[in-house]
Amino acid sequence: MRGLRTVLVEQQDFGSGTSSRSSRLVHGGLRYLETGDLRLVLEANRERRILLRIAPHLVWPLPFVFPLHRGDRIQLWRLAAGMWLYDALALFRNVRGHRMLGKRTLLEAEPMLRERGLLGGARFYDAQCDDARLTLATVRSAVHHGALVANYTAVRALERTAGRVVGAQLEDRLTGARGTVRASVVVNATGPWADKVRVLEDSGAAPLLQPTKGIHVVVDRSRLGHREAIVFTSPIDGRVLFILPWGDLSYIGTTDTDTTESPEQLTISADDIVYLLRSANARFPNARLGLEDVRASWAGLRPLVADRERKAASSRSREHAIVQGSGGMITVVGGKLTTYRSMAAEVVDRAARELRFRNGRPRPYAPKTDEEPLPGGEAADLAQFRERGLELGLASESVEHLLRHYGTEAAGIYNLGAGERRLLRRLAPPHPAVEAEVVHAVRREMAQTVEDVLVRRTHLYYETPDRAVQAARRVAELMARERGWDEARVEEEAAKYVAFVGG
Ligand SMILES: Cc1cc2nc3c(=O)[nH]c(=O)nc-3n(C[C@H](O)[C@H](O)[C@H](O)COP(=O)(O)OP(=O)(O)OC[C@H]3O[C@@H](n4cnc5c(N)ncnc54)[C@H](O)[C@@H]3O)c2cc1C
Repeated sequence: MRGLRTVLVEQQDFGSGTSSRSSRLVHGGLRYLETGDLRLVLEANRERRILLRIAPHLVWPLPFVFPLHRGDRIQLWRLAAGMWLYDALALFRNVRGHRMLGKRTLLEAEPMLRERGLLGGARFYDAQCDDARLTLATVRSAVHHGALVANYTAVRALERTAGRVVGAQLEDRLTGARGTVRASVVVNATGPWADKVRVLEDSGAAPLLQPTKGIHVVVDRSRLGHREAIVFTSPIDGRVLFILPWGDLSYIGTTDTDTTESPEQLTISADDIVYLLRSANARFPNARLGLEDVRASWAGLRPLVADRERKAASSRSREHAIVQGSGGMITVVGGKLTTYRSMAAEVVDRAARELRFRNGRPRPYAPKTDEEPLPGGEAADLAQFRERGLELGLASESVEHLLRHYGTEAAGIYNLGAGERRLLRRLAPPHPAVEAEVVHAVRREMAQTVEDVLVRRTHLYYETPDRAVQAARRVAELMARERGWDEARVEEEAAKYVAFVGG
């Protein structure tokens, strides 16, 4: 958007790293009030406001209830003070201001909450997001503005001239083809992989990261019976945890533990799952959740900036850092999904300074990334789009599903269905996703594999009891029509997905 010629490469699928394994919140970060990261809360609250505006289909307001029980480490007066500060750091422009709630009102709002020991609490507002699709929408927005982007394309080495990094050697991970891209400035924005890429620039580069692992589990929402999002402190260790609604499902998260595991091979231990389930059971005693109730789970690695004082994992700063290596490569680490836009703006400022210094290029104009909608976010009022979907004969759940995932781009899915009615059939009934989404994912969203479609484009992996194994073959067939795959390739691609689920 600043007029720079830009290439983006991603070694797997867009968002397949940490950015599809978050808590899916665009939030100020209530708990950072405790660690005193007020600047981060201020910045994140501002970004929340912007993202609600530029991507209303992918980021939506979420009311939270924060109940306090006797014995919790946070007292009511501290919660009240924190709530006030949180609203103040949103410049009193959050979706709505908070309200303190007495025990009775709290139980009316959340009747399944543990009544014994309940002291009161608060209702406040943050936002929920579709992390993988937000990442994808951002990449697609870059494409609309002229960037060249490729998924499944890994940086294997860096190109150098007189010691300076001037490009990268790339490998197409689907075909094995290799090539080189030259660039005046190279940015390393590889999250938990950042130190590995820095070593390509300087084999002695000191690690910048001290990552922590976070896991989430998915259970049927009816088991907990909560109505709104719940934030609470775990009675086991006092950490702040979330129970988040996602349609008929609830996400419980998250852990925050130091780890030396690599981002490709994150494990989820039974102990971590039991910790989350026991914490949730303590607040919702009728749920009685056990390991057998877990429908899905995911683990992610927070690419946190190493802390010289080596603080405990959950109090380590979520602020970001931008550093330049010995060859001039700019590395950005840390931060949160919520603050990606402002982090990116800072990185591009740095790149633009570098270009001016080296090539004397004029200052690029400052783009309006805080105003321009992401693809699909052009209108917040989708009434017309809802009507059109119903006119086509889609069930209302499918229409709502399409509006939530695609915003105004649902029109593109409708057009596919209008041209070929069978594409309006459900992919994995009773889930509301329809077959036309697969065609859209290939044509417009750069999906290359069945996993791309089922995990990050449609989320059927998380949202169906069999993790969408039944739909794999049909997805491969629909992709084959677009990609020209033969029968053997269809078999192979479907089998790869089944193996992925099994593994
Ligand atoms: C459990 C958990 C919960 C979280 N919850 C929230 C939340 O609710 N809200 C929030 O705002 N933030 C949250 N975060 C933080 C947020 O998810 C991360 O800060 C953010 O997603 C990091 O994005 P990233 O682009 O830096 O890293 P990633 O998303 O990991 O992206 C880096 C990409 O670089 C690619 N890559 C690596 N090496 C190469 C190479 N050699 N060549 C090409 N590509 C390469 C990888 O494949 C990867 O896709 C959470 C994090 C975790 C772990």
